[in-house]
Amino acid sequence: MSLRPENAQQARVLRLLRGNGPTSRAELGESLRLSRSKLALEIDRLTEQGFVESDGFAASRGGRRSSIVRLSRTTRFVGIDIGATSVDVAVTNGELDVLGHLSTEIAVYEGPTAVLGKALELVGKLRAEGVATDIHGAGIGIPGPVSFRDGVPVVPPIMPGWDQYPVREAMSQELGAPVLVDNDVNLMALGEHHAGVARSVDDFLLVKIGTGIGCGIVADGDVHRGVSGSAGDIGHIRIDDDGPPCTCGNIGCLEAYASGAALARDATAAARVGQSTYLAERLEETGTLSAADITAAVAAGDPTAVQMLRGSGHRVGQVLAGLVSFFNPGLVVIAGGVAGAGHSLLAEIRSVVYRRSLPLATGNLPIVLSELADAAGVVGGARLISDHVFSVSGGAEER
Ligand SMILES: [Zn+2]
Repeated sequence: MSLRPENAQQARVLRLLRGNGPTSRAELGESLRLSRSKLALEIDRLTEQGFVESDGFAASRGGRRSSIVRLSRTTRFVGIDIGATSVDVAVTNGELDVLGHLSTEIAVYEGPTAVLGKALELVGKLRAEGVATDIHGAGIGIPGPVSFRDGVPVVPPIMPGWDQYPVREAMSQELGAPVLVDNDVNLMALGEHHAGVARSVDDFLLVKIGTGIGCGIVADGDVHRGVSGSAGDIGHIRIDDDGPPCTCGNIGCLEAYASGAALARDATAAARVGQSTYLAERLEETGTLSAADITAAVAAGDPTAVQMLRGSGHRVGQVLAGLVSFFNPGLVVIAGGVAGAGHSLLAEIRSVVYRRSLPLATGNLPIVLSELADAAGVVGGARLISDHVFSVSGGAEER
């Protein structure tokens, strides 16, 4: 199903119901400044198209009781969050409450056919559980640069085989519904903006420290993607001309110092030379170390791991201090697998940013951890596609 509202009033009704849940006609009329008869006309059309349905009557405010309108109970959006090592799939209702959420391990370098196939398997499982019948749209995040307009990845460094792959067209065909594809960090920012820690903030940055490092930029309530979709790709800002090589082919990028992949590399080296007994034992057991091993080592109080994590926070803080002076956000959200290590990372980032940015930019600047964690990307995916489905085709409200 790929219906869209017929005019801007209908789109506003749908978005209001998405945010507020079931609402009386009287309140809708007040919020939208529509006369009772005009509102009734639009709601009749939305009902005929299956977008909304009636939900009983509101308590009387003296006089006639106002009937309650809600988004159709069968509305379903899908959010798909593809990471370097896992894929998350969630199904939401029209109000974007998560009704089912599944996750599985993948390796993104196995290529689009294998990875998107696994995502579709999870959608199938959720359908089999009765969470969804019809799907009204899906928003997909991938861990690399995306041409938002074309719905394709563009030379993603950690995703061989994905360059220019028609993710949007392929998934739209499989799901029989409209699909939008965006960078995973942009979706996380949308998710936190819709239902997380950035709910009441219209200008903020979300920095994801995972296998790679990226930044979602929300300006005036909208994701800022830049001319070609690569805005916020801060992982490849060079911080040292003599630094270690990066997956992008350059040297000294932030990612080459501070990402989960860089931490895993440094942890392995430290374990091999006997700098940390904890990491050495872990390496002995599993044969390989990941960022998760470092966060576990930090939790166990291993001094080498704590040192490494602080180093990562320091480098991220260096870059972030510049971004804060440049963008003047009202909030900075730190997210991603490495952020799971929590406080010592956050403390280091804060101390560097507060020390290096202008007081006017940091005077009132909270730097906090993500609230939705693993759900941020999938909620953001549902939000992205619902913005599209609840907008007039080709109209000014389309984003
Ligand atoms: Zn790089």
